[in-house]
Amino acid sequence: MTNKIEYTINLLKQAVADYGHDVVLASSFGAEDVVLLDILHKHNIGIHVISLDTGRLPQETYDVMQIWRKKSSLNIDIYFPDASEVEAMVKQDGVNLFYDAVEKRKLCCQVRKILPLKRALSGAKAWVTGLRQEQADSRSNMQAVEDDQAFGIKKFNPLIMWTAQDVWDYIKSNDVPYNALHDKFYPSIGCAPCTRAISVGEDPRAGRWWWEQEDAVAECGLHASPIKK
Ligand code: SF4
Repeated sequence: MTNKIEYTINLLKQAVADYGHDVVLASSFGAEDVVLLDILHKHNIGIHVISLDTGRLPQETYDVMQIWRKKSSLNIDIYFPDASEVEAMVKQDGVNLFYDAVEKRKLCCQVRKILPLKRALSGAKAWVTGLRQEQADSRSNMQAVEDDQAFGIKKFNPLIMWTAQDVWDYIKSNDVPYNALHDKFYPSIGCAPCTRAISVGEDPRAGRWWWEQEDAVAECGLHASPIKK
């Protein structure tokens, strides 16, 4: 575990050495993200943090966002969707369009997540994520540092080797603030209307867009290694 933490610290420092102010950490304040925030905070690693407020987040996510804002000296910028794009989408398809069809769900993710992320990453030369190899077979080939084809920049995955157990061991032993929904059987947390708790034995991603077909891709398009349900 100590080796994994050191590896993560070194990779984060390498990201700063390589890209200076042009590297950002994208955080949704999930379990992996709070580990990275804690490491940045404790080791004084100057990576700018960005997060997306889709307008549909659970209260628990806002709560943990606010805790981190007060607890740390990290520079955290929250990006919102374009109001006119949300208005046009809602006018056309309604506020809960995502339940109607996969295409409409993808449209909502595009307007509320992907376009704001593109704006947040514009000007950045690299970004840092909390993705882990263990999360899915489709992530088994991911690299610690890779080219992100979708955004045309480098992508650093400093938790690549961590297991879910490592993440929780770190959180508990370092008393790291985390999203309270994790204690209510939400291993993966997104927007409130699109996330539910899972049952014993269910895949950790089963609570995301659960109404979609079995073979639907349980991802919103932020990462090039989507997870099949
Ligand atoms: S997760 Fe749901 S509410 Fe959030 S952006 Fe995607 S479709 Fe819209």
